[in-house]
Amino acid sequence: MKNLLLIDDDQQFSHFFATATKSMGMNCKVINESKNIMLFDLKPIEHIIIDLLMPEYDGLQILRFLKEKDYRGHISFTSGQDMLLLKSAQELCELHQLRFHSLLKKPFSLYGLDELFNLESFVKISDEEKPKEIINQVEFSDTELMPHLKIAIETSSLDVFFQPQIELKTNRVSGFEALARWKLNGTFIPPTRFIAIAEKGGIISQLTAIIIDKSLQQFSTFVSSIKKSCLSINLSALELSQSDVPDLLKQKAAEYNIAPSSITLEITETVLLEKNTLSLEILTRLRLMGFKLSIDDFGTGYSSVNMLKNGPFTELKIDRTFISSMHNSNQTRVIVESIIDMATRLNLRIVAEGVEDNVTIDRLIRMGCTIAQGYVFAKPMAKSEILTWLNDWHKIHNISLKNDKVHFLRGLFK
Ligand code: C2E
Ligand code: MG
Ligand code: MG
Repeated sequence: MKNLLLIDDDQQFSHFFATATKSMGMNCKVINESKNIMLFDLKPIEHIIIDLLMPEYDGLQILRFLKEKDYRGHISFTSGQDMLLLKSAQELCELHQLRFHSLLKKPFSLYGLDELFNLESFVKISDEEKPKEIINQVEFSDTELMPHLKIAIETSSLDVFFQPQIELKTNRVSGFEALARWKLNGTFIPPTRFIAIAEKGGIISQLTAIIIDKSLQQFSTFVSSIKKSCLSINLSALELSQSDVPDLLKQKAAEYNIAPSSITLEITETVLLEKNTLSLEILTRLRLMGFKLSIDDFGTGYSSVNMLKNGPFTELKIDRTFISSMHNSNQTRVIVESIIDMATRLNLRIVAEGVEDNVTIDRLIRMGCTIAQGYVFAKPMAKSEILTWLNDWHKIHNISLKNDKVHFLRGLFK
């Protein structure tokens, strides 16, 4: 049974909503006085439906509160206001990196409600993102987490998960992104959080060194199973302001016998300041050494296009907020298409992030996108899960593990 929460000051509407969703087999809690959200236990709630206009806290203030609580379930908005206002709320939701689900303009019929809860994306909360796990860690403040993180670094107990990247036309696995993982007392702490803590606490270099070592070491154990597979590693902004990362990467790549040309370094564009010459110098040195460079989360920063002009990049990753809102926004589809067009002309490898359904895959192929990554293919996995996943993937898609040539020839004569 799905657990919903409706926050709406209109009691009559709330009654209708709760009764209707109950008849659809869901469990709906209602908050009529929006300030009561502060006392509410959000742990079991999988989907919150928020009215935009309310007397005490309006929908936008509630969003900020949910962001502070690191709420990981879905969020939908309902309002009698015009669609434009609802769209702005959606945008704000995505800016806060909350999981936007749908807009529901009042009045709406039971049919509209049915559609809302049958949307495919609703069922797709990965194990990794289940509210229970994430909410627990809110109990720790950054200061409390810091000594634990130091111990995790000293004992090298951080881990790396791998998420495959798929060549859309052939279904071939073209590479993996390494994503840092930290489990504290059985709870996963999100990397966005512990990386920010490590940056603030001045221990990011040690953390990066562990991630570089572990991801290359583990990748080297399964890379031989896939032809021409690459590894992507995320680099923190601060790594670009100190110059020893290129040498460390070079040394580790040699140690694990991986060619630098098979390694892509992902850098979030928001951190790439135009006038930071040291960053540009380090990026250029990495390219000279043969590593590839990717602009991560493209489209979310302010300097996107400038970075393309100034930086020696080989790849562009379209941010998942664009990909996930393609299904309900014509504007977003136009933006994604333009980004793909521009990247193609600039001869950049294009990766779409956060692909969660087949409709999006088809759209991306039609737009000329070549590679994608997302839960529709696989969630990030531990090394121990990779070979099983690869075997299943190759079986489903009729790709030979050891001999890609057979597949290539088969495709040629189809
Ligand atoms: P990112 O580099 O953009 O990584 C992609 C994020 O999207 C990952 O979150 C991944 O689990 C998630 N993701 C992938 N497919 C889907 C999907 O279909 N739907 C949804 N909703 N999400 C999807 P994760 O692992 O929580 O990492 C978050 C961010 O933390 C990363 O964003 C990256 O910026 C940072 N990060 C992770 N590992 C490292 C690291 O080793 N070093 C540094 N500096 N940053 C890291
Ligand atoms: Mg990345
Ligand atoms: Mg990204």
